[in-house]
Amino acid sequence: MKDDFIPFHKAEIGHEEKQAVLRVLESGWLTTGTEALEFEREFAQFVKSKFAFAVNSATAGLMLCYAAVKSEKRNKILTTPYTFTSTANAALHAGCEVCYADIEADSFNLDPIQAEKVLDKEKSVCALVPVHFGGNPCNMEKLNRLAKENSIAVIEDAAHSFPSETSMGFAGTLGDAGVFSFYATKTITTGEGGMVCTNNERIGDFVKKMRLHGIDRDVWNRYTAKNASWLYDVTDCGHKCNLSDVLATIGRQQLRKAGDFLEKRKAIAAFYDEAFSPCSFLKIPPTGEGNSYHLYPLRLNLEALKITRDEFAAKMQECGVGISVHFIPHFLLSFWKNRYNLDPRDFPNAHKAFLSEISLPIFPQMTQNQREKTVDTVIKLGRTYER
Ligand SMILES: *Cc1c(COP(=O)(O)O)cnc(C)c1O
Repeated sequence: MKDDFIPFHKAEIGHEEKQAVLRVLESGWLTTGTEALEFEREFAQFVKSKFAFAVNSATAGLMLCYAAVKSEKRNKILTTPYTFTSTANAALHAGCEVCYADIEADSFNLDPIQAEKVLDKEKSVCALVPVHFGGNPCNMEKLNRLAKENSIAVIEDAAHSFPSETSMGFAGTLGDAGVFSFYATKTITTGEGGMVCTNNERIGDFVKKMRLHGIDRDVWNRYTAKNASWLYDVTDCGHKCNLSDVLATIGRQQLRKAGDFLEKRKAIAAFYDEAFSPCSFLKIPPTGEGNSYHLYPLRLNLEALKITRDEFAAKMQECGVGISVHFIPHFLLSFWKNRYNLDPRDFPNAHKAFLSEISLPIFPQMTQNQREKTVDTVIKLGRTYER
């Protein structure tokens, strides 16, 4: 790799995060404790959620939420094929199954009309799982209404959408529960980590208990006068997906910088939009209200080009610009394709999106030079291969 290669992503970790980690290491308390509790409190306050529960990944958080809302009769989650595999993995780990509805033609987000069609046929769905793709919020008004009409829950996969603030509130707090990710490439990071937000006490209690072995201290608190700290009951077979204080403290520092990170990503997106708008061989991403700009999912207008997305992506890398593609839809991944007999023809919008999408670097510390080089590379390649 050349020295001036622009990475697709680079996490922004500063002095504050390093100092915070050192403080926790020196404190002698390394697992979940006051740092995690404070992180939860601060995060809940930030997104205006009643409850927030720190977990060691968004995948684990999704699993816990699915398990909280499934029932014997209803055990399927309904999501889009245009998401990371873990939106669906988590369902199987929770004892659920998955069914899919296509995305909208332009937004990459779950199409409420397609979701309604699936719900008319599928009577065992327990939850709609919209993914706020790239940080661009889904149409939660329509999806919430649809869920209500069908008496099912809405679990938001908010892995991309911190902080995506709409007039209704923050994406990830608009359904029954929402799950944020602090994976290394997400808008704020703890290396690995996630947060479950909910205003629903029953879901909150379930997530809190099941993320740590199924231990319910509160049951004992109700029955014991003195709260002996060694005494607990196990009321369910839980999991082990709490977040350690070493990581939570990084999250607390990142949270303080989230607004600044967002402004920087917004500026990069605006710079890209302006440069790419006049190019007929490109289609700029949808800019919905409250976009967190976790991704910049540019689309190629393949009819205007002589090369495929794969070739275009390879040439970008050759020119020194790190890119990615989001996502390989589930109907092209063997496990999901075989398990549910998925056919791309049933998801024309997702298939089209996949064939034309290319995610450009959009991280806060991108220099002006790097932004310009990215734009110049895209436009030069487009002009070279224009029909
Ligand atoms: C990253 C991601 C996840 C999983 O997040 P982890 O914290 O790595 O478990 C889930 N859904 C989507 C859409 C993602 O991009």
